[in-house]
Amino acid sequence: MNDRSDQAVREIVIVGGGTAGWMTAAALSQKLAGTDTKIRLIESAEIGTVGVGEATLPQIREFNRLLDIDEAELMARTSATIKLGIEFRDWGRAGDHYIHPFGVHGEPIGPADFHHYWIRQNAVGQAEDFGSYCLPIVAAREGRFDTPPASPVSPLQDYTYAFQFDASLYAAFLADYAGARGTKRIEGKVVAVDSDGESGFIRSVTLASGQGIEGDLFIDCSGFRGLLIEQEMETGFADWSEWLPCNRAFAVPCAISGRVGPYTRATARSAGWQWRIPLQHRIGNGHVYCNRYISDQDAVDVLMANLEGEPVADPKQLFFTTGKRNRLWNRNCVAIGLSGGFLEPLESTSIDLIQSGILNLIALFPDKHCASSDVDEYNRLMDLEYDRIRDFLMLHYVLNQRDEPFWQDMREMKWPDSLRDKIEAFKRRALVPHYDHGLFQPASWLSVFLGQNLLPESWDPRADAMGAGDLAVRLSDIRAMIASDVDRMSEHLALIEQYRATYIGGSA
Ligand SMILES: Cc1cc2nc3c(=O)[nH]c(=O)nc-3n(C[C@H](O)[C@H](O)[C@H](O)COP(=O)(O)OP(=O)(O)OC[C@H]3O[C@@H](n4cnc5c(N)ncnc54)[C@H](O)[C@@H]3O)c2cc1C
Repeated sequence: MNDRSDQAVREIVIVGGGTAGWMTAAALSQKLAGTDTKIRLIESAEIGTVGVGEATLPQIREFNRLLDIDEAELMARTSATIKLGIEFRDWGRAGDHYIHPFGVHGEPIGPADFHHYWIRQNAVGQAEDFGSYCLPIVAAREGRFDTPPASPVSPLQDYTYAFQFDASLYAAFLADYAGARGTKRIEGKVVAVDSDGESGFIRSVTLASGQGIEGDLFIDCSGFRGLLIEQEMETGFADWSEWLPCNRAFAVPCAISGRVGPYTRATARSAGWQWRIPLQHRIGNGHVYCNRYISDQDAVDVLMANLEGEPVADPKQLFFTTGKRNRLWNRNCVAIGLSGGFLEPLESTSIDLIQSGILNLIALFPDKHCASSDVDEYNRLMDLEYDRIRDFLMLHYVLNQRDEPFWQDMREMKWPDSLRDKIEAFKRRALVPHYDHGLFQPASWLSVFLGQNLLPESWDPRADAMGAGDLAVRLSDIRAMIASDVDRMSEHLALIEQYRATYIGGSA
């Protein structure tokens, strides 16, 4: 009989020390504490990291909780601000703007969901802007924030938040965390990979120094190059540029001028969009575009002409192809981070995909043989995440009403059936996708549908049962309650000052 302990993974090798590598090392070092499993992480200062990735989603708070990371300390040490949502400017028609919040709109006022009542009232010109019925949206606009109450007295107070942080400080924070829990960091460039001729399992990697590093399980966090998953294992890549054609970006930080609000901004441009991510000490900016519609020079000019403060570095160009590996886990190699795939930065989903990759790996943690049933399940779960994110990202593009060639083509492209069905269901009867788990629940879809002017032809007939006068009063009460709650909230920056004073001892 086999001794089970002979089969256990004893050596984990993580190749790459960007956000993906250090998030993986931090989580595994915590989850495997007390076992004999060793974790080594190889990174190369010569190659460096992608250097962007500053906006997150609220799910990161779950990651912090699992790792017992103190949020206030994390914020202080990574120069972070709070993110209550993303403001989209000019995505429908020029001049339009809406916020996709991390919270719900309205509260239950009858048997139908809140948005059906709003749509009914809007159809007769009696509703205010949909965002004004959502607490985190109003708070974001006012620059206010308080930690959501643990026991909300009203569903209106049921919201959450994420962070906007300096990616290099975040990696450094996690490197300290993982190092304190036994992860060994190795500086060096991987120049060769040795795999077993029969099984195809990776046996070791070799550094430029000649040092060989053996392992049972390899995590490829090497960034876009996919050093192990692609260059060694030739897993293949599903190219999704036909659906998400943006393929380049320029990124540049600038000085802060004016108020730093607790939200990210994404402004549509003629062949893509521009991000604005406020941190404590600077604003991260970038222009994501498709080079079939705009030259690199024009793209960088658009970015530099639309900064709100002095640039504090030279613009950096990034190249990517949207899509994902055919298998994110192949034999004894799991690709986490950009090595696994990238769906462009709209909606800040990459760090969340890293987190899902890590948590699914922990849930299905293998022995040395990496049972194919577990590997298949991992790939199924991750494929589902990627597919759903792709549809939600595409929604922003296909619902535009702009007239530049890029935007016209985005409207006229062939949409995946899964997306077409969701749009049709909303258009006909105001039905919104509802997933059992995962990102982008109804409030997210609603924000984009309505924010980009897709008004349904009909709504839940139960919403007609309420008298017009009663409905008007209920809607007005909701706005008043939100306004009064937001009035009592703190200035967003006051909270940050407090965290800095506690952990760093200075002001932002
Ligand atoms: C334009 C743009 C904007 C983005 N914005 C966001 C955002 O707002 N929010 C978000 O969630 N995500 C965003 N992302 C994605 C985010 O940046 C990444 O998901 C995140 O930084 C993780 O990257 P990574 O660790 O996978 O790769 P990288 O940061 O590229 O790290 C790769 C690591 O592998 C190492 N390495 C590579 N080759 C070797 C070798 N041969 N030997 C040794 N080491 C090696 C490198 O040194 C480095 O340490 C954005 C991405 C882009 C391109």
